[in-house]
Amino acid sequence: MNLDDGPVDPFLGDPDDPAALFDDDEPPAPLSDDERADVLADLAELEAFRAALESHGVHGIVVDCGDCGDQHYFGWDLMAGNLRSLLGEGRTHVHEPAFSPDPDAFVSWDYARGWTDAVAALAKRR
Ligand SMILES: [Zn+2]
Repeated sequence: MNLDDGPVDPFLGDPDDPAALFDDDEPPAPLSDDERADVLADLAELEAFRAALESHGVHGIVVDCGDCGDQHYFGWDLMAGNLRSLLGEGRTHVHEPAFSPDPDAFVSWDYARGWTDAVAALAKRR
């Protein structure tokens, strides 16, 4: 259940707000060392993607959302912010859309990985 997106809470300011039963401010469970390492690896990979792709007009990453079935567009900064929030620096905003995203300017994580792998392979042949 995601209380962050959806319409404005009709019980806002109401002391009998049933949603008060859910402690929305509770921080997410801390990551295990393995999960932390995964997120740090993703962050490093994201930096590499940005370095390789931003100059080609790519604005960020598009993700197929398992929660709502939609595609979500993340600008480079938003994507990095989401990963950092997993490390305990703030909260994730997974469903927060980029501002008026141009779908053509976003690539999937796998596409970005394929691109950077190809660039690295070409660099090695020189
Ligand atoms: Zn979603």
